[in-house]
Amino acid sequence: MIIAVASGKGGTGKTTIATNFALSIPQAQYIDCDVEEPNGNLFLKAEILERQDVGVPLPQIDDSLCTYCGSCAKACEFNAMAVLKDRVMVFPELCHGCGVCSYVCPENAISEGEKVIGVVERGTVSRDGDDLSFCQGVLNVGEPMSPPLIKKAKTYAEPGKTVIIDAPPGTSCPVIQTINGVDFCLLVTEPTPFGLNDLELAVGVVRQMNIPFGVIVNRSDSGDQEVVSYCQRENIPLLLEIPFNRDLAFAYSKGISYVTENPEAKDQFRQLLVDINKELQA
Ligand code: SF4
Ligand code: SF4
Repeated sequence: MIIAVASGKGGTGKTTIATNFALSIPQAQYIDCDVEEPNGNLFLKAEILERQDVGVPLPQIDDSLCTYCGSCAKACEFNAMAVLKDRVMVFPELCHGCGVCSYVCPENAISEGEKVIGVVERGTVSRDGDDLSFCQGVLNVGEPMSPPLIKKAKTYAEPGKTVIIDAPPGTSCPVIQTINGVDFCLLVTEPTPFGLNDLELAVGVVRQMNIPFGVIVNRSDSGDQEVVSYCQRENIPLLLEIPFNRDLAFAYSKGISYVTENPEAKDQFRQLLVDINKELQA
């Protein structure tokens, strides 16, 4: 089963929940798809055993064949090419690797090269019993296109394990790429007007994609009751409410996962998995 932990906004505690959840359940794998800022391993401290570069196609121009006709630049919907008098320029930051330029080139002067956009790292987290399998995508600094890297990281989901995917915050393309195809989505929010607003946006996305989902309210004893009322009104399962906990915040500030210091706290995450299974069977 693949469970994505997502949030309509950053700073809700999504990664804290995803890492502690993964550490609390047996036969689990954690995949960090928040590739622009993967910080789950600050807490999990996985030993990285394997790294693989991830690239996207990038057109290469053969100047000896090019007649500078301009067809490629005209056909590119992303303005990623410019044809000058004696030169074709490709702007890698804008290129989506669609291949249209090479298709329209009358001289077969365009071949497919590759641009590395990041790396997928895999490893394990030692723990009592079975080890936790770990994977993360790390996007190169300044690279604007994260979905291909997210897609690659997700291919390492291990069949037979409960896979916890840490999604990027928000509701844009990287989130869609991350949650596409998952079995269940946990939406983490906080009980504030901002939290409610972003939760409503995230609920719109998962409903549109027909993904079963439930809500976790973090720091549930601060703020107001509007998120709870919204979930009741919309018939959304409220799976967990986590009050502010000074020990948890302190452990977080030291880069220590809460359940490592407080093993009894694993019970609530094990129960969360039971509740998700019930939701899926309902
Ligand atoms: S379409 Fe081909 S020949 Fe024309 S400018 Fe582009 S690369 Fe050169
Ligand atoms: S591969 Fe697509 S996006 Fe990239 S330059 Fe060619 S047409 Fe433009």
